[in-house]
Amino acid sequence: MKKNITIRSNRLDISQKIKTIITKKFSEYGYNVSEEFTDKTSLVISIGGDGSFLRAARELDFPDVPFFCINTGHLGFFAEILPDEKEIDYFIDSYMNNEFEINELPLLEIDIENSVHSVRDYAINELVVRGNRSRTAHLNLFVNGNFMETFSGDGLILSTSTGSTAYNYSAGGSIVDNRLKIMQITPISPISSNAFRSFTSSIILPAEDSEISINPEYKFDNSILIVIDGEEKKYQNISKIKSRQASKRIKLLRLRDYEFWNRVYMKFLKTYDYKENERKSF
Ligand code: NAP
Repeated sequence: MKKNITIRSNRLDISQKIKTIITKKFSEYGYNVSEEFTDKTSLVISIGGDGSFLRAARELDFPDVPFFCINTGHLGFFAEILPDEKEIDYFIDSYMNNEFEINELPLLEIDIENSVHSVRDYAINELVVRGNRSRTAHLNLFVNGNFMETFSGDGLILSTSTGSTAYNYSAGGSIVDNRLKIMQITPISPISSNAFRSFTSSIILPAEDSEISINPEYKFDNSILIVIDGEEKKYQNISKIKSRQASKRIKLLRLRDYEFWNRVYMKFLKTYDYKENERKSF
């Protein structure tokens, strides 16, 4: 039976403290808890914010075991619990009693090509193709080989349902229930004029049988930048970026009370109630 837990944490004092507590508690159940990922690892615990989880998943090359996220960061959209000892005990009890669900989130598979090479990458949230050094990006967009538009503007976001609440949302895209398997293409500051005409809002495609292809038009050398889940990729003379839903998935361990729209409410819409907080402090 697999008895290893991999733990990844950012450097905040609170995260390090939680790491020590979790290591001790799981060790008492016979688990070997360390930063290493081995073939005996059955769970990865990420302590930090969403950024910490995205980095851990990439560093571990999107392993086929569930991640559990503890939020000591800012937003914590992926996180199930806060760094609180009672919540940690609730998580460990739920884990030991198999009282959880596994949410499987499909990744985007991305091929970045130039005249010589093709490099494959994967995204949990999104692929961004944008102008480098404040240049306008001119991007020919194809869906399943059919020409759609020559986009001109700051760039295009190709978002998964999972990424819909991230950069996509800030750029005016829609929040998508993560049970829906779609890809959303959201323009960043599109130009729509007599000179250039682009979609000014998002388009949504079925993830399963859509291949998106973006061919940059260069007015200046190397004026295109690729950003995958916040990580900049520097490639020379990119000729084509192709993307589709991957067969790989990232798994998230969800506790019993997880509900997507409640998470959206709590993280985006719930306002801070000053009066209630004042009352609590008396
Ligand atoms: P970052 O500082 O790690 O993240 C920026 C914000 O996005 C943080 O508040 C982060 O939460 C939140 N976030 C990440 N994934 C999310 C998701 N699926 N749903 C809701 N919120 C999410 O920035 P980074 O290292 O440059 O890039 C990581 C991600 O940030 C990217 O994948 C991109 O989606 C997003 N981003 C957003 C903008 C924007 O909104 N204008 C710009 C660049 C990047 P935590 O606070 O918990 O880390």
